[in-house]
Amino acid sequence: MVAPNLDVAAALAAAEEHCRGQQVALTPNRRFMLQQLLEAGRPMKAYELLPRLQAAGRPSNPASAYQALRALQAAGLVGRIETLNAFVARAPGEAGPAVLVCRACEDVTPVHIRIEGAARAAARRHAFGVEGWICEVVGVCARCRGTALAP
Ligand SMILES: [Zn+2]
Repeated sequence: MVAPNLDVAAALAAAEEHCRGQQVALTPNRRFMLQQLLEAGRPMKAYELLPRLQAAGRPSNPASAYQALRALQAAGLVGRIETLNAFVARAPGEAGPAVLVCRACEDVTPVHIRIEGAARAAARRHAFGVEGWICEVVGVCARCRGTALAP
């Protein structure tokens, strides 16, 4: 997840640069959605985004919202958090293999753990054709537990 104190304008500029490099269009609607997620600094559900789209005079039907979110996801700028049924802004190239999801405050923390090799080996053993990944560790974050982070 993008850091909460991130400079939104800088993040949007980086996203535009990333899209140019990938030859993906960051349409005004996609850019607006990404901006909402960046400003929120937390996962948001599509239904939370709809009133914002409407208030900004943008297409605010669920189909167009999901279309924009899917395009941002495909471009690697947004991650879908299945556990929360929500979307979160990601820094370009920050496709973390796993996230810790706090079920209390719904905060999401990307963690870099080596899981891909083991998962691909297991899939090979079962002749399973891998199409995607979801690795979400659900629990309660240190802040919600009132405990300090482990050193
Ligand atoms: Zn929490």
